Amino acid sequence: MAWANPSFLEIPESYLFGTIGRKIQEERERVPGKYIIRMGIGDVTLPLPPVVLAAMHRAVDEMGDAKTFQGYPPAAGFDFLREAIVAHDYRARGCDISVDEVFVSDGAKSDVANFTDLYGDANVIAISDPVYPVYLDSVRIAGFGPLQVKFMECTETSGFLPALPTGHVDILYLCSPNNPTGTAMTRDQLAQWVGYARANGALILYDSAYEAYVSTPGIPRSIYEIPGARECAVEFRSFSKTAGFTGVRCSYTVVPKGLTARTKFGHDVDLHKLWARRQATKFNGVPYIIQRAAEAVYTPEGQAAVKANIAVYMRNAGRIRALFESRGQKAFGGVDAPYVWVKVPDKYDSWSFFDHMLREYGVAGTPGSGFGPCGEGYIRFTGFGSLADVERLEGLMKA
Ligand code: PLP
Repeated sequence: MAWANPSFLEIPESYLFGTIGRKIQEERERVPGKYIIRMGIGDVTLPLPPVVLAAMHRAVDEMGDAKTFQGYPPAAGFDFLREAIVAHDYRARGCDISVDEVFVSDGAKSDVANFTDLYGDANVIAISDPVYPVYLDSVRIAGFGPLQVKFMECTETSGFLPALPTGHVDILYLCSPNNPTGTAMTRDQLAQWVGYARANGALILYDSAYEAYVSTPGIPRSIYEIPGARECAVEFRSFSKTAGFTGVRCSYTVVPKGLTARTKFGHDVDLHKLWARRQATKFNGVPYIIQRAAEAVYTPEGQAAVKANIAVYMRNAGRIRALFESRGQKAFGGVDAPYVWVKVPDKYDSWSFFDHMLREYGVAGTPGSGFGPCGEGYIRFTGFGSLADVERLEGLMKA
């Protein structure tokens, strides 16, 4: 007899993207040939930059040559990539992070979820609402019940930012720039969280998958820009949205040495060592070809190309936001993140406004309620589509 993990029964089935797909299909059947503008997707659409492709091609050739062939990659990544990451993403910003604190991986999604392997069962965990659903689902799968999970409400009044917890919390998930609201924390706001975590012995899990989209001067791109963050925070980053790697998979997680968690016997254990052990046991590394591709992102041509792609997405996002605002609707985000968070008119909820937009203009967003109860009354549109689609929507909505 195989026994199932009962925690899987505790997490609601995710109907969000399935339901969106079904509704799009129904609309296509209702109006054959109708063009659907897909602004719900959180996936990039522009191809990989030529400099990245060239690096991949070279690495492919190396794999076919006995002299340069690579077998299993190191579980924490090749030093050539880890060094490039540290130089560009940390040292260049004055952050004190060393090469062996960087763990290269195949996705921020899996790393965020896998980090729960390190949690003892006594933790009280705080998660924003609304937010990227993986945090809550993975914490629940790891066996943390409703009494151990606290929700930090992010509403319009709070600028869609979570308030510091009032009761006891051991682990905090922060996502900035935020999916889905598009808000990004300022240095002072982030410093408050670091201060809170240090004063309370809490651990911050900081997801900055969208840091490359920050355009407002002074908004931190890494939590390690805040003094003291090394003592309380793990950071998750990804090449997915930064460099169009969603289809090739490369990310990294920074676990500073000296960051500790307590066992129930009262010993402090080093999280860096635990994560290294976890990765060595359950993960066999990111392919050499992909790590060479990621390294090329840090070349001057790579940086120029990814910035140009991000500019395309952000121009789309800015126009989407302006379009809704021009109709008198409140819209947020689209400045430091590719997400535009639109308040639905009073007579609708998230889903009925989704239906209305699909029928009326053929545009599909993502209902805000899919990101948590506080997302109700909002809909998320993304800038990841084409400019042609944005112009099409402008034409339809302004007509
Ligand atoms: N973190 C956030 C906040 C995201 O929105 C996403 C993807 O949508 C990810 C992580 C996933 O990143 P990856 O493609 O590296 O798994």
